[in-house]
Amino acid sequence: MASTNNIVRTVTALRKKVSEWRKNGQTVALVPTMGALHEGHLSLVQQAQKKADRVIVSIFVNPTQFGKNEDLSKYPRQEKEDKAKLDQLGTDLIFAPRVDQMYPEGFSTSISVSGITEGLCGGSRPGHFDGVAIIVTKLLLQTLPDIAIFGEKDYQQLQVIKRFATDLDIPVRIEGGAIVREADGLAMSSRNSYLTKTQRETAPLLYKKIKGLAKSLPKARTPKKILDEAVGELNEAGFKVDYLELRDTKTLEPIKGKITAPARLFVAAFLGKTRLIDNIRVSKVRS
Ligand code: AMP
Repeated sequence: MASTNNIVRTVTALRKKVSEWRKNGQTVALVPTMGALHEGHLSLVQQAQKKADRVIVSIFVNPTQFGKNEDLSKYPRQEKEDKAKLDQLGTDLIFAPRVDQMYPEGFSTSISVSGITEGLCGGSRPGHFDGVAIIVTKLLLQTLPDIAIFGEKDYQQLQVIKRFATDLDIPVRIEGGAIVREADGLAMSSRNSYLTKTQRETAPLLYKKIKGLAKSLPKARTPKKILDEAVGELNEAGFKVDYLELRDTKTLEPIKGKITAPARLFVAAFLGKTRLIDNIRVSKVRS
């Protein structure tokens, strides 16, 4: 059902709207994004619409989760198009604060999650999950939704958010949403727009590779050897692999030998300057 979303930019306006809904006994879902919305984001929105009476989508390119040499300044910003897509879906409110609303002068607080942030994107992007943790905590406390939905595309991020929401007793249910892909298998991402035509043609190989590995790894006697070979092949094809790792689905502990518990295979690789990530479920070995 199409609607016209109001865009609010202050926490006061956001809370006013939420409290009106609460007075009417309505439930609220939050879908945090950095904008440049694609079908992956929209699938989370649709999931949210099934779970709550009201859906808020936040759009905020959070500077604290970008490293010094990352793409903060060139990250795509297209609020008008985003609003049109959300109007089409019939969401209820867009929260699009400016940077000084989220980080006013004197801002000094940080949240650091240990354990689950070690390695994978946490290893390659120092400080990234501190930035995610502080902004998501703020968004959750500003909105106080019943449920907040995050994509499995950023699987480590989803686990980090579940961890600190539990640890900090934030009264919200955190739910994951499945990865949405292009027809050729490439996981949708706002960053795919950076790819040149040639890079875009190479990009689907990343998913093809991990999909193949997800089949072969449970039967493999030497998973490490297979992973090393796959890194070589991806690099040969034009990627620069950052990591390709098998980890426990829940704890994200590295899996070195036989796969005895449900696992997930994680990959991050550069194509030129664009960093792509993806992941896939790997079944445990049947005994
Ligand atoms: P972003 O705008 O990239 O910060 O993403 C906002 C939310 O959308 C995060 O929870 C992401 O995990 C999720 N997301 C991004 N891409 C996809 C995708 N292809 N499929 C499902 N969820 C996604």
